[in-house]
Amino acid sequence: MTDLTTLRLDADDGGLDRAAAILRAGGLVAFPTETVYGLGADACNGRAVARIFAAKGRPRFNPLIVHLADAQAARALVEWSDAAEALATRFWPGPLTLVLPLLPDSPLSPLVTAGLPSLALRVPAHPLARALLARFGGPVAAPSANPSGRISPTTAAHVAAGLSGRIEAILDGGPCPVGVESTILGLTDTPRLLRPGGLASEEIAAALGQPLAPSGPGISAPGQLASHYAPAAPMRLDATEKLPGERLLGFGAVPRADLNLSPAGDLTEAAANLFAMLHRIDDGSTAIAVSPIPETGLGRAINDRLRRAAAPRG
Ligand code: AMP
Ligand code: MG
Repeated sequence: MTDLTTLRLDADDGGLDRAAAILRAGGLVAFPTETVYGLGADACNGRAVARIFAAKGRPRFNPLIVHLADAQAARALVEWSDAAEALATRFWPGPLTLVLPLLPDSPLSPLVTAGLPSLALRVPAHPLARALLARFGGPVAAPSANPSGRISPTTAAHVAAGLSGRIEAILDGGPCPVGVESTILGLTDTPRLLRPGGLASEEIAAALGQPLAPSGPGISAPGQLASHYAPAAPMRLDATEKLPGERLLGFGAVPRADLNLSPAGDLTEAAANLFAMLHRIDDGSTAIAVSPIPETGLGRAINDRLRRAAAPRG
């Protein structure tokens, strides 16, 4: 989508009300945080989250950081721990993202975590971000508000230069004070620095009273990504028909599909359905065939994930 009129919203009550209403309606709002401008969407709305990837032109689905109004909201989404409590008390609101085990019945779209069993979350300190999150009243998924491959935006003008016409609104809060991304700390096992950022790792280690493990083979390791997203059953891509003994994951008006990513052939809908349907169609043994997906727009990210899922593993 490149034909939207992108509203420039002021940092006042009217602007915040409008921004929260746009999020509620499934729209995209860029908003300032203390690190960089984030591109926000309702994290529980799969189509809204899919549109983040479309607007950024991201060629693959990587997991997104969920922004919350306070630490209390985090406990409803992840397995909270003593370490999380200590760090949240000390550093939230602030430029620290914690990765924790996702609770099984969370209301989040699986696209937010790219199908991972863990969730990255933080409570930003910027007053406008906090005001928007409080008004919206739910989790907001937000990567940096720039086209894929470009540098992160620290002013509303940067956001407009990259995403005008692709998002509903930009909440203008002036320049971001920190200007680098949040520090990401993995807490799914031993505390692990996953990305250096706005909060020094020494400060985190001091607060925990233990050194941080190095990032190691994190989720960026292709092998680990592949195994996370791979159904147990074999998968055949670009299937133009369903063979005997196969289940068909369809796209568009295909006959005999067991599940269909989007009967109308809508790539945003298909992206929103992708991870949930991959899980549902996989019984561990019945072979899965997948209809061809066009290699345009969000189709590139969908195909990237399907190719990983179908890749031989060992
Ligand atoms: P950003 O580009 O600032 O939105 O940061 C997103 C990054 O956060 C991802 O590329 C990962 O490095 C990390 N991340 C997000 N979610 C997770 C997760 N569930 N598990 C591990 N790392 C994550
Ligand atoms: Mg980024």
